[in-house]
Amino acid sequence: MRLVTAIETIGKLRDENRRAGRKVGLVPTMGALHDGHGSLVRKARAECEVVIASIFVNPLQFGPKEDFEQYPRDLEGDRAKLESWGCDVLFTTSPSAMYPNGFQTFVTPEGPLSAEFDGAVRPGHFKGVATVVLKLLNLTGCDIAYFGRKDAQQCALIRRMALDLNVPSKISVCPTAREQDGLAMSSRNVYLTPAQRAAAPNIYKALLAARARVQGGERDALQIREALARDLAAIEGGSPDYADVVDPDSFERIQQKIPGRFGAPAPALAIAVVRFGSTRLLDNLRLDEDGS
Ligand code: AMP
Repeated sequence: MRLVTAIETIGKLRDENRRAGRKVGLVPTMGALHDGHGSLVRKARAECEVVIASIFVNPLQFGPKEDFEQYPRDLEGDRAKLESWGCDVLFTTSPSAMYPNGFQTFVTPEGPLSAEFDGAVRPGHFKGVATVVLKLLNLTGCDIAYFGRKDAQQCALIRRMALDLNVPSKISVCPTAREQDGLAMSSRNVYLTPAQRAAAPNIYKALLAARARVQGGERDALQIREALARDLAAIEGGSPDYADVVDPDSFERIQQKIPGRFGAPAPALAIAVVRFGSTRLLDNLRLDEDGS
């Protein structure tokens, strides 16, 4: 696997791949890699001729009181994992290379997709995400960029950005990889104490219970939301940030009944964020279909 650390070099690589007509897949990450990232790299490997993973802990998407400094970093461990998943190129660079002196152009999402939920709890977060993702798409010229459904609002927002700004890369959204007990894999899981780690799978259990309600015929989004909020509030040591039922593409809250035709529910996504101490764990589950 080739390691690229300079902006100029990744740009040259993009031009070479373009000239040779190679299909390029990009997996953007912040490192501290786990099997969730692995599932994205493996999908890219199956679909593309060149697989690039990026590792960049993006200061722009962290708030002043968030964990930018403490965010887990393990470049050597990550390199070995990427090799074993079949990645061709690791691109990693410094904040000062990404945002050199004079940098002043940002992608600022302004609609409902960025205003609520993580957009409301983390002001500026999605501006940071959209800006760095667009830069990475431009730098690599990838045909397909792979993202995890665990961060469903981010996926919806990036899809929207690609549509709005005529970005030629395809945005591929991949299923959430989970630990055996159902906890969504996350680089931040390492922050959890043993007691918090033991309680954390209850987030997924609460989401499964919400889906079971829908599968049992419940369509009243308010009832589902309230039951989900109750289940999350009962998690030992956890404190819910939000729980809701939204349209998976627009992230607009489903206010009354989950719409549907011929008895089948329309697309609906249950979203949940629970804090354990200062660690925020996100998860979500489609209520209208089976799977992760
Ligand atoms: P991160 O390094 O946390 O910024 O994540 C990089 C990419 O991996 C994002 O597209 C995430 O949505 C995705 N990702 C993180 N955790 C998981 C998971 N458990 N399953 C699938 N994808 C994931």
